[in-house]
Amino acid sequence: MRRHILPAFGLLVLGLSIAAAQQPPPPQGVPGQLRPRPGTGRQPEVPPPSIMDYKPRSTLVVPEHKVTRAKFPVVDIHGHPPTFSSPEAVQNVVNLMSPLNIQVMVQTSGASGAELKSRLDAIAAAGLKDRVAMFTTVSFRDVAPGWGDRAAQQLEADVKAGALGLGEIGKNLGLGTMKADGTRLKVDDPELDPLWAAAARLKIPVFLHLGEPQEFFQPLDFTNERWQEMALFRERRFNDRARYPTFDELMAERDRMLMKHPKTTFLLAHMGWHANDLARLGKLFDKLPNLHAEVGAVLYDLGRQPRFGHDFFVKYQDRILFGKDSFQPDEYPYFWRVFETADEYFDYYRDYHAFWKLYGMNVPDAVLKKLYYQNAVRIVPGLPTAGLPR
Ligand SMILES: [Zn+2]
Repeated sequence: MRRHILPAFGLLVLGLSIAAAQQPPPPQGVPGQLRPRPGTGRQPEVPPPSIMDYKPRSTLVVPEHKVTRAKFPVVDIHGHPPTFSSPEAVQNVVNLMSPLNIQVMVQTSGASGAELKSRLDAIAAAGLKDRVAMFTTVSFRDVAPGWGDRAAQQLEADVKAGALGLGEIGKNLGLGTMKADGTRLKVDDPELDPLWAAAARLKIPVFLHLGEPQEFFQPLDFTNERWQEMALFRERRFNDRARYPTFDELMAERDRMLMKHPKTTFLLAHMGWHANDLARLGKLFDKLPNLHAEVGAVLYDLGRQPRFGHDFFVKYQDRILFGKDSFQPDEYPYFWRVFETADEYFDYYRDYHAFWKLYGMNVPDAVLKKLYYQNAVRIVPGLPTAGLPR
């Protein structure tokens, strides 16, 4: 049915518009198209590809500067390498870091108690304390009165044992974790306050992955720019309002919690999910001098705004850290290329994150050094610095 109605409707719109004022209104639902074009409403004469199949080859020829090794030594503040279960496991990770010029990997699949101790022992036995570091973690299961003080005690013990930070605190906080009384554990729940306060006292950063990309909270329709990812992964859909808060409700909880703890050093994973709206993150940075963010897994958003992104990185050069998230050695060079070059229109490595191409941000060297290692050294006391420039 649709096939026949649409072309007729298109012609009708065309005719009416020309008659009306020589200034036809934009066709509905076609962003960027100013007036009906000769093909408007037509159906393709060959079967159209699906979003999964259409991978056009770019014919653009421009200079290319692939970067396999970062220009300056790097601290990866958001590392999920394989578990440091033995000295060999640590050595294997370091062997993969070196060609990329990653000097220090922070293991943010945090471990606590006896597990933390065994990871730290493996690192020491491998003789690689200068190359990897451990964060600790905390379980938010069954939060009830008294939980905060116990969590603070555990944190103190883990920091004494050698953990350099707390995290990664995962997205379940605020999205999935329930309290002992059966209600959703909100990010700004007062029972968590003693934990955030303890981090300030112990002078360690708190690394938070809160929320998910804002599109994951929106209806799965053909205007959703993360359609493919949401369609592929059921667990990335947070648009059921009976189960989940809205993106903005969750961010408001986060911001209230951050506001309550100005003495705690916070690091937001994934640019706080504001890489698609950097001005919003900038406002938060302006309000909260203790706040930092890392770039893990949001390269698709930075690489599509190279000029605005460049200016943002310069303006907030003391607040942004390098982090990668998933440990795939062949993906790091895409980050180096976006940050270090002014290359145009090149491929990204994960098509379900983004159907668009990336551009280089050409970040100045002084800012690049802060991004790659200097900011990490500043906000993570005790981070190994032996292999970093002084
Ligand atoms: Zn992570």
